[in-house]
Amino acid sequence: MNISIATATFYNTPFTEALELIKRAGFESIELDTYWTGGDNWEVTQHLRNIRPREVLKIIRESGLRINSLHDMGGVIFKDTDTLIGAGTYEYLEFGEKDIPCLVFHAPHKKTDDRSWWSGYAPKAAEDLKALKDRFLVCIENIQNFPGYQTSLIDPAEMLAFVRDNGLYINIDTTHYAQCGIDIVSAAKFVRDYVKGVHFSDYKDGKRHLFPGEGVLELKGFVNSLKLDGLHALTLECNIPYEKGRPEVSVESMKRARSYVESLIL
Ligand SMILES: [Zn+2]
Repeated sequence: MNISIATATFYNTPFTEALELIKRAGFESIELDTYWTGGDNWEVTQHLRNIRPREVLKIIRESGLRINSLHDMGGVIFKDTDTLIGAGTYEYLEFGEKDIPCLVFHAPHKKTDDRSWWSGYAPKAAEDLKALKDRFLVCIENIQNFPGYQTSLIDPAEMLAFVRDNGLYINIDTTHYAQCGIDIVSAAKFVRDYVKGVHFSDYKDGKRHLFPGEGVLELKGFVNSLKLDGLHALTLECNIPYEKGRPEVSVESMKRARSYVESLIL
C-alpha cells in the first residue's frame, strides 16, 4: 500500500517548496490536487493558480516524486450538460498520461433544490468517467452536502451501485463520511471490494481533516476493514502545520502522521 500526501495540504506554500517538504519527510509519492475555482466563488489549491498543468507535471518530474493519483478538485454541476471533469484535468491527462495511474473525482453536486437531479445526470457522469477508465484507475470520492446544493452518492449503497455498474472505484474520505453522520467502519466494510483510494484524516465536533488521533473517529477499525492489499493509495489529507523558515515543523508532523497510519495496521 502506498502512503502518500495530498499536495493541497500546503496550498498556501509555493508548490516547489511543498514538494521539497514532502520529500524531506520521506514520502516517495503524492496525490496531486489540481487548481480549481468555481461554484460560489470557491477556490482551492491556490499555490497552482498561475501554473499550467504541463508545467506542474514538469516540476513534479524534476522533484523525483511520483504521482499516485491526480485529484480533480471540482465536481460542481450547473447544467445537466456539464461534465464533472475539470477543464485543467484534460491538460494533465494529455501531457501526463504516463505519470498518472489514478484519478479521483468528487461526487457531483449541483446547486438546486431538486433532490432528484442526480437520476437525470448520472448517465452523463457515467459516460464521461467510463471514457477514462481504460487508461486510468478512476475513483469517486464521497463528499458532504453544501448549503443550497444537492450532493450525489452520499449513501454508501448508492455509491457502491454506481461504481460497480460503471467499472469505477471509490476513494473513501473519512472526514466527509463523518460530516454526513455515516460510520466509517461500517461504510468501509460495506464498500471495501471497490475501494482503491482513501483520504485519511480525523474529525471531531465539526472540525474537519484533523491530524489522525486528534479526533474521535475509529481509524484503526476503519483501516483494518479495508482490503489493504488491493488499495492503490492511502493519502494523508489532514492538518499539517507549516511555519515559514522552519521546514522541520511540517516534516516532523508528516512523519508522525505516516507512523500513526502504519501503527494502526494489524
Ligand atoms: Zn478528500
